[in-house]
Parts: sequence; structure tokens; C-alpha cells
Amino acid sequence: MSLFDRFRARLDERAAQDLSRTRRLAGSPTAPRQRVDGRELLLFCSNDYLGLADHPELIAALQEGAARWGVGAGASHLISGHSEAHEALEAELGAWARDCIPEARALTLCTGYMANLALLTGLADREDAELFSERLNHASLIDGARLARARKSIYADLDQLEAQLRASTAATKLIVTDAVFSMDGHLAPLRELLALAECFDALLLVDDAHGFGVLGPRGRGSLAHCGLRSERLVWMGTLGKAAGVAGAFIAAHPTLIEWLLQTSRPTIFTTASPPALAHALLKSLALIEGEEGERRRAQLELLRDQLATGLAPLAATRGWQLPASDTPIQPLIVGENAAALALSGQLEAAGLRVPAIRPPTVPAGTARLRITLCADHRSEDLNALMLALSAFEPFQGG
Ligand SMILES: *Cc1c(COP(=O)(O)O)cnc(C)c1O
Repeated sequence: MSLFDRFRARLDERAAQDLSRTRRLAGSPTAPRQRVDGRELLLFCSNDYLGLADHPELIAALQEGAARWGVGAGASHLISGHSEAHEALEAELGAWARDCIPEARALTLCTGYMANLALLTGLADREDAELFSERLNHASLIDGARLARARKSIYADLDQLEAQLRASTAATKLIVTDAVFSMDGHLAPLRELLALAECFDALLLVDDAHGFGVLGPRGRGSLAHCGLRSERLVWMGTLGKAAGVAGAFIAAHPTLIEWLLQTSRPTIFTTASPPALAHALLKSLALIEGEEGERRRAQLELLRDQLATGLAPLAATRGWQLPASDTPIQPLIVGENAAALALSGQLEAAGLRVPAIRPPTVPAGTARLRITLCADHRSEDLNALMLALSAFEPFQGG
């Protein structure tokens, strides 16, 4: 078999398991109604929970940022790419973090994926460290753990984690978890995890990609939502989801941040993100914590309750599972890959886009529709979704 035939055969294998993926072509800005492949659809799939990605004040802020700062940063933060805009953004995020982490300092990065690589390779860089990683963690945390030189243990629940911590002789212990599990929408037991971190002298790294901006007082995320406060907390958040722009941050004890800044390769060997983005993000933070953010979070809660109440009887009659979720991520677990694809396909025929999520993103046998809500959805949009779901004929195929 030739080189290319080998890859072609592997692609064919994936296709036979209903695992092929395609990119859809967006023809208009991120919003509940978007042109997709030339057709207007009602979407329940973006992580733009607050509906800020196409907000006029953010667009104006980005334009202003570009006029003030130009386009590219030109070099990494340590060379010449660290602008006053980046510095101001880090100062503001640091102030947010100090609600939960005394004396916290923040560092911004180009993406959440890179932030997690930076965190895990930076803090677990030696064999005398051990990572304790939640089984459902996001791929970027799994990849970070693979790259880190530390030992790794995967835990499925608090009891298992406690046993692993008790057995560990590592000098530096790091518990790593998503705050909100991205494919399930439920919150990690952060309070209990912090108690274990305190008991076993560990750090607790929390990836708040889906809680930042959405949960907690003034949208300050999952740590504030749970009322946590400790210098053992390391808070990572992304700025391309609820914040509506792009990028990510790590906030932690200033010594840890200085360590990452000095040593972590994903922060050192990459060009800083455009300063105009940092400028726009300052506006995004102001929107999130202000009245506009409050109004949008209240709308999300109304939508979430409407959907959960409306879907429960339907899911029960179809044998679908609707795990409880306190967040705008509402999974509808269908089971088989083909069934999830058929359901997603029928919804799309009806003008609605709700992607099917399949392994390896979720465990085998739990293929699902991942419904995500946006503050710009209207109550009628949810009615349209529930109507289309109730019309689904399980054995008709997609
Ligand atoms: C999206 C996501 C990331 C990656 O963030 P990007 O900024 O998109 O690279 C990391 N962790 C979790 C839990 C995510 O959902």
C-alpha cells in the first residue's frame, strides 16, 4: 500500500464507523441565526453563550483597537509583543481572579488549548510531580498531560482521587479538572476537590472554559459561583466562548505565574495575539460584569429552564437521556453514532443545526446532541427545536 493509500484506508475506516466529520461554511457572523453552507439555519451549537461575538460595542472596540494598535503583535510577549493593551487586560483579569485567589496575577495566551499545554507542561515539568486528571477532561488537558513529564493518574470520582492522592509520594501534586464538563454541562465538585487539595497539599487547576462569563456573581466564573477562595487554585479561562472574542488566560499565585512566564514553552515560543484583541476583550469584560451581562445571564437561565422542562417528557418517551445541567450546555444523549447523526440530520432538514457529538469526544455508546443556548435565542426558537425533535422518527434514518 502506498503512503497515501494507507491514510485513505484509515479515513475509510472512520467513515464506516460514522465518524467522519465535515466543516460547515458560515456565511454570516456567529449568532443563533446564521447562514450555513448558503442556507439560513437556527443554530444551537456555538459557545457564544452571552451572544457577544457579534455585539456592536465589541465590533466597535475591535475597530478602535486596530486603529490604535494596528494588526499584528509582531513577536512573542517576551520579545516585543507585550502591549499596554495586553497588560491592561491581564491587570483586569487578575483583579477578577483575586475574588477567589488571594494576590492572583493573570497571564493571557492566544488560545485555551495553548493555555492548558502551558499550564500542565509548566507546572508538572518534572518526574517528582504527579497529575491527577478527571476522566472527562477536555482534550487540551489530556494533551497537556501527555506532554508533561510528570506521572499521571486518571480519576473517575472523588473516592478514587482521594486514594490516589493518599498513595502518591510526589513532591508536587496537581489536580486537574474542567469546571463545567463541555459535553455534559454539569459542574465538577469544586468545593470537594479543593478540600482534597488542601488535605494533600496539592494545587487545583480548574479549566473554566464554559463557566467564565456565564456562572457566578457578575459572570466571574465557576470558582466564584462555588464561593471558593484559596491560593491553591489555578484558574484557566477562555476568551473565545462567552467573552465572544478569542484567547485565554491563566490566573494564579504570582509565583506560579512568574514561573510560567519564565519557563513555559507555549507562552514563550509563540507570537502574542493581536493587541487589538486585548483591547476588545477589555470591553467584553466590562459588558460581562455590567448590566448587559446580568440581563443576558438572566435570559440564559430562563431559556435553560424552558428547554429542560419541555424536553424531559419527550426524552422519556424516546429513551433519550437528558442529564441535569445548570449551564447553557444541554446534552441529549441518544446512544449510537448513527442514531445521533440521523437525528441531527433530520433537525437540519427542518432548518435547525444541532451537531451530533460522537466518540472519541464522548465515551462510546453515548453519542449525543449537544444543544447549547445563547442569550440571543428566543423562547420561540426553543419551541421550534422541541417541535422538530418530537417529529423525529427513530427508524426512518437520516
Ligand atoms: C474550548 C475549550 C478549550 C480550548 O479553548 P480554545 O480557546 O478554544 O483553544 C479548553 N478547555 C475546554 C474545557 C474547552 O471547552
